Amino acid sequence: MKVNPQYSTKEALIELYNKPLLELVFEAATIHRQFHNPREVQMSALISIKTGGCPEDCGYCPQAARYHTNVEAHKLMSVDQVVEQAKNAKANGSSRLCMGAAWREVRDNRDFDRVIEMVQAVNDMDMEVCATLGMLSEDQAQRLKNAGLFAYNHNLDTSPEFYGDVISTREYEDRLRTIDNARKAGISVCSGGIIGMGEAIEDRVGMLLSYMAMETPPESIPINALVAVDGTPLEDQKPIEQWELIRMIATTRIAFPQSVIRLSAGRTKMNMEAQALCFMAGAGSIFAGDKLLTTPNPEFNEDKEMFDILGLIPKTSFADGEKPVSHPDPIIEERKRKDAERLEELKAAKANTEDGFQPRRVVTVE
Ligand code: SF4
Repeated sequence: MKVNPQYSTKEALIELYNKPLLELVFEAATIHRQFHNPREVQMSALISIKTGGCPEDCGYCPQAARYHTNVEAHKLMSVDQVVEQAKNAKANGSSRLCMGAAWREVRDNRDFDRVIEMVQAVNDMDMEVCATLGMLSEDQAQRLKNAGLFAYNHNLDTSPEFYGDVISTREYEDRLRTIDNARKAGISVCSGGIIGMGEAIEDRVGMLLSYMAMETPPESIPINALVAVDGTPLEDQKPIEQWELIRMIATTRIAFPQSVIRLSAGRTKMNMEAQALCFMAGAGSIFAGDKLLTTPNPEFNEDKEMFDILGLIPKTSFADGEKPVSHPDPIIEERKRKDAERLEELKAAKANTEDGFQPRRVVTVE
């Protein structure tokens, strides 16, 4: 049961969201146990492979170039740097690595070629690879799939009605198209939202209705609480109550029984008891590591302690789907072939010069 038919209307979802909290958590916990092992929680690592300087205007994001925040922009990481971080994350229990780049969209250039190489390298380490790179065409999605990408993240963030209050540089439709492109390439979809941006409960369930309208809802739904960052338009938003995050996780759990619900940004504000309620309500994943792209996150050691106390076990990779096969990328192979050819030509030209061959002088006549 991918979508719960009992809660397929706005009214039913609002009623569910507003149920007495413990009733709601109990219902979510019951559904969670039917479809998932309640002791298993996936630890995922999120690294920012290219930070800041983004031309978009997402009102919550410190990486947008137009906002004056403390985020220092940096260029795309090297493949070796990513592999190093992936090794560290894996050694600390993460079975999934999400790579985020602050791009409006993917461009067909050498940077994207490098991301393809990152995907191949991390997939070879037996970690689930997820990427969040902005808008994506079907061909680009196909290249990522061919490289071994397990999941693509592209959030709807909120309801179609509230969306324009937060972002103006791309349409809701653009987001739906990217999700569709990932889906058509056979990549597992990760897509969720943020609460605490000033939206109404109608908007929270409105986002869920958008996922219900899809032929196949996302396999993974991250639920974030806004981390209000100085310098962004949402800097003055009051933090939401922990109960709201628990309600949202429980409602999402019940609405999409088979999806993995991810307790994402905003966890630093929660004590262990509140996090325990989130797991009870069906959260099946957390992001591990001291940073979530650019905002703080609990340390590995704190999470290990929490897992021990709550009796949770880290979920192994590819428990929810087969490991993709990494194939050689035709574009990169062709580039390497051309580079090798060019190198041979240069070597031959150098040998000719050493034999006394003089390149023809070109005289320019003005
Ligand atoms: S959320 Fe992504 S697309 Fe939006 S401004 Fe931040 S980096 Fe850019």
